[in-house]
Formats: sequence, C-alpha cells, structure tokens
Amino acid sequence: MITPVNKSVFDLNKEQISEIESRMRSRGLGEDESLMEVCERDRETLQELKVTYEQVASKLEELIKKSNLSETISDEKYEYKMTAYFGYNFCPFSDRESVKTYVNHRWDYSDDHEWDICGNEPTRYTIKRLDTGDTFTFSGLLPHLIRDHSILLDRKPDHYIDPTKLVRILELG
Ligand SMILES: [Zn+2]
Repeated sequence: MITPVNKSVFDLNKEQISEIESRMRSRGLGEDESLMEVCERDRETLQELKVTYEQVASKLEELIKKSNLSETISDEKYEYKMTAYFGYNFCPFSDRESVKTYVNHRWDYSDDHEWDICGNEPTRYTIKRLDTGDTFTFSGLLPHLIRDHSILLDRKPDHYIDPTKLVRILELG
C-alpha cells in the first residue's frame, strides 16, 4: 500500500492508520497502545499548553543546528550531543517498496529511481538543560514527524517524552 507522505496522522483513513500504527510499534508506541489515542492525547496536551506542532519542531531544529558531530558543546542554556549512525532511519510514512529500492540502489548514481521516501535521518541528539539537569534524546527525524505528521513519538520507546515535559525543557509553554 502506498502511504501518503507529508500528511498528518489525523488525516489518514482507517487502513492507513492501522499500517502506520504497526510500523510505530518499534518506534515508541507500546504493544497495547493505540496510535490515535496517543496522538489525540498529545494534541490535547499541546492545545492546553497553547503550543503548536510547528513551534516544537522549529525549536528542536534550532537545537539540532547547534549540535556538532565531533564534540559535545554547550551554551548558557543547553549541552548538545550528536550521534550519526551508519544505516537508515526512515519515516514510517515512507512507501515500503520505495524503501527497499532506496536501500538497494543507494550507491547507484544514475539516479533514475522514483523514491517515495518521506524522510530518512540516521542521527540522534541528546540535549541537557544545564539549570535543571533535564535531559532528552531524540532522533533527527522527530521534527519532521511532529511538523508533518502530528506525531510526537520517536524511534525508541525510551525516547518518548511527555509533551508537557518537552515543552518545559524547550521553554515553549
Ligand atoms: Zn514522513
């Protein structure tokens, strides 16, 4: 099935939701959790805090830009760590066949392949607030997931961060 790229999770049909939900099981969604329940809950939390997906995504991108692969750096507010790994971190909205084609033809520079890849960011960031000690880790794909798909879940279950805490660390609320 072709999944729609750059579409909010709230605009999917039932079949698409169920497909994305199964892909999200390895990306922070618990075995017994419903993707839509989690996304609804996070949306309500952001609404209560009067913070938009766009604000969260932009702030994370700001932090990403300050991070540096070669060293841990800090400014007056945060400490930034960045990790890049060899491999892939595809957006779950990417078309499955396209992902296979991409992986098989990555080194083929003739570049005549049509790829329906929604996002691929094999990077990871750890940000620490220096005044409170609050730390959170997220993949480079998270700003895209938040902005384009209204999803605040990240690659690993232990990376999931409650939006209330996230907004506090990012000083958005
Ligand atoms: Zn995507």
